[in-house]
Amino acid sequence: MGMYTKKVEEALGLKEKNNNEFYGEYKGYELTLYVTQQGFEGYLNFYSSQQVRIEAINIFINTVNKSITTANESPFGIHFLTNGFTYKSAMEKLKGKLDAVVEYLTQNNVPGIGHCMDCGKESQYLETVKLNDVYVTLDNECSLKLSSQVEEEKKEFDEKPNNYLRGTLGALIGVGIACVAWVIFYFLGFLSMIIAVLAVFLGNYFYVKFGGKANNVKTIIVAALSLVGLLLTCLFVYLYFAEVFMITEHITSMTPFEYIMKDPEMKSAFTHDMIMNSVFTVIGVVIQYSSTKKKDQNNQLRISK
Ligand SMILES: [Zn+2]
Repeated sequence: MGMYTKKVEEALGLKEKNNNEFYGEYKGYELTLYVTQQGFEGYLNFYSSQQVRIEAINIFINTVNKSITTANESPFGIHFLTNGFTYKSAMEKLKGKLDAVVEYLTQNNVPGIGHCMDCGKESQYLETVKLNDVYVTLDNECSLKLSSQVEEEKKEFDEKPNNYLRGTLGALIGVGIACVAWVIFYFLGFLSMIIAVLAVFLGNYFYVKFGGKANNVKTIIVAALSLVGLLLTCLFVYLYFAEVFMITEHITSMTPFEYIMKDPEMKSAFTHDMIMNSVFTVIGVVIQYSSTKKKDQNNQLRISK
């Protein structure tokens, strides 16, 4: 939606900070807005009690119309998502919702611009930092407090022991469970390829559970184990069938693998399954990688100025 930069800036009075990332003051309150394929996602900052936040959430959701809209509490106000069928209708909807919330906040004298968003104090010495996805303005004291908190968390993560061997063992167990499920699904006649997605998920889950650190090495180890595990499982299942056919047909002149390769129907089914397993493993890795990346970003404090 890069083509909407100018329109978004004009409609809300914001400035584009990064690609599709907008920030600025909206009618007395700080607003961070992302324009994504899913629509508008943003953060409206204000200093208030939880009760006021919940009321603001209700107003945001129920104003204009409820469709394709969610809102929840954020550390400094509310976080929201909304969309419409066209850019124009989406923007009208967003503005309607924001205006209603801002009106409610203004009427109740809820502190916005000019105040620290962490302690609510009015101050002339405020600075804006970016905490994860949200721009927030703080006074010196709260800004320092936040920086040291971020440092602390980073130190904690860095100092966490990283046990590749145990992590890999965990991943093996996770992938092993998925391989068993693959065989069961196969014999039941279900689409066993989707198990590949499960293999990646379980591999990751047990890798971390067993003491491996969630980083890119984990992604590579789990991806490799899932791929090898599933391809071997698939191969063994076909070898088993070939063995059974060879026994019933009294064939002893070739190996089960040669039998698979000589039978056109079996060969094509085998090739198809091997390829599909690989494809679905890649899909699993991509899903897992993008979802944990998002989760890690939300859990880990990042600060930038
Ligand atoms: Zn403060």
